[in-house]
Amino acid sequence: MIIQSKELSSDVSEKADVCVIGSGAGGAVMAKELSEGGHSVVVLEEGGYFTREDFNQKALDMFALLYRDFGLTAAVGMPAIPIPTGKCVGGTTVINSGTCFRVPDYILKSWEEDYDLEGLTSEALRPSFERVEEIINVAPVSLEVIGKNALVFKRGTEALGLKGAPIARNAKDCRGCGVCAFGCPADAKQAMHLTYIPLSSQLGAKIYANCRAEKILTEQGRVRGVEGVFLDQKTNKKTHKMKVEARVVILAASALYSPALLLRNKLANSSGQVGRNLRIHPASRVAALFDEEIEGWKGVPQSYYVDEYFEEGIMLEGIFTPPGYGATNLPFFGKQLKELMKDYRHFAAFGVMISDTSRGRVRVNRKGRPLITYRMKREDARKMAKGVAIISEIFFAAGAKKVFPYLPGLPEINSRQEVDKIRKRRAKATDFGMMAFHPMGTCRMGRNPRKSVVNSHCEAHDVANLFICDGSIFPSSLGVNPQLSIMGFATHTASYINANASRYFYT
Ligand SMILES: Cc1cc2nc3c(=O)[nH]c(=O)nc-3n(C[C@H](O)[C@H](O)[C@H](O)COP(=O)(O)OP(=O)(O)OC[C@H]3O[C@@H](n4cnc5c(N)ncnc54)[C@H](O)[C@@H]3O)c2cc1C
Ligand code: SF4
Repeated sequence: MIIQSKELSSDVSEKADVCVIGSGAGGAVMAKELSEGGHSVVVLEEGGYFTREDFNQKALDMFALLYRDFGLTAAVGMPAIPIPTGKCVGGTTVINSGTCFRVPDYILKSWEEDYDLEGLTSEALRPSFERVEEIINVAPVSLEVIGKNALVFKRGTEALGLKGAPIARNAKDCRGCGVCAFGCPADAKQAMHLTYIPLSSQLGAKIYANCRAEKILTEQGRVRGVEGVFLDQKTNKKTHKMKVEARVVILAASALYSPALLLRNKLANSSGQVGRNLRIHPASRVAALFDEEIEGWKGVPQSYYVDEYFEEGIMLEGIFTPPGYGATNLPFFGKQLKELMKDYRHFAAFGVMISDTSRGRVRVNRKGRPLITYRMKREDARKMAKGVAIISEIFFAAGAKKVFPYLPGLPEINSRQEVDKIRKRRAKATDFGMMAFHPMGTCRMGRNPRKSVVNSHCEAHDVANLFICDGSIFPSSLGVNPQLSIMGFATHTASYINANASRYFYT
């Protein structure tokens, strides 16, 4: 049952075993798995509930409907980095690209060594990942919808003898229309609003949309429930109050908003680590002009990857935006940009994402709004420059006439030899037009309560029965897109809670 604020005429009060805050990758999985474990579940989601009828494929409408703050959330720093996130039933999974990777084995091993985490091996997590992959239908993208943007890049990758492959995605009967970031109009992308949310609802969970959690109630070091408010979908004004009495609270409001809620509540932060250690996988892109027609907006926008340099922290992944929004793929302004847009059919574009060692932080201001800061280290800027250089080389190897690396003083290059100009630069963060899509790390896991916020079962060290199950738990960058890992960890945590039900629900 999905209840929206417009259906309510009075305040709401609920009693449940579990209250889940947030309905994205982490929250939706917890809701379904704990409902299946026989527990009564109430989900609070700040965003509205939307379906494919609402997804009109128009960028501006969809930013207003499905994204938080019109997609303008950003980390302050040099440079400022936009970090868009979803705000709707299904969270950021509704507007993401559908790329699925499991957390790499060597990352898990590094957590074991650096954070004393036990029992989180690939082998231990395998059943959880398999369960998720089956439910959201993870499979490599098919050649029919891979798109020419990817095929051109594949050609260049193979010409240079580098390692790449089609991306595995959570999609079913994808028709390659290219607008994944604006909500899938074909219900092909198996986001949470089509999979785990309906499954939890069938199992009896109640999902309240337009309901913002504001206070986590505790008593003697243990959670008691959550208080929140309902918001009008159009005006965002408060309409009614919400109170849920619950024995277990799952905080899954994302790596930007879970720490903000904890900081506002002055909760679970004896370590001082809440909001710190923010990693974002900074990303940039390179475009290229070809003689041949590419029509990069046709096909899955993110359908091919190159992981040859993965262990150096550099991952290359497809990216293309539809023409209506496509000017962001190209350098220059005004007349020059207008000229380039005439050739938009002949453009290809690819993205570089780096596994960051730099850190940011989420704080809250006096009004309780999150303030995000991030400072990129030179080491990461160098990785970014290397990624930009490799993409440029791949494009030239594929036959590009011109490549646009978007660097100050180097908006375009005309030959493979000129790629050296990128390699020889002393790269710094302000060289790149960056975005980031993967906030992580702000309530990190660890064994030591003085250095981490949750333990290896994702339970807060400081507050019994409070679990954090979203991107904020990862102690370091994953290096790969995180949604599948968030879902895998949530499944693993839910089976732990279900197996220890007597401790969490009946004492
Ligand atoms: C454009 C884009 C493309 C992406 N592509 C990919 C991809 O292809 N593959 C991949 O792995 N990852 C991708 N990601 C990232 C991925 O979708 C996220 O990492 C993942 O969804 C995060 O899961 P989460 O549970 O941490 O938070 P979210 O999925 O963001 O869910 C959090 C939910 O909590 C709600 N919430 C916040 N505060 C409150 C509150 N106080 N009360 C109630 N509700 C609240 C939010 O509204 C939101 O719906 C992409 C992200 C973006 C922006
Ligand atoms: S490309 Fe596929 S998954 Fe993306 S919006 Fe179109 S049909 Fe949906």
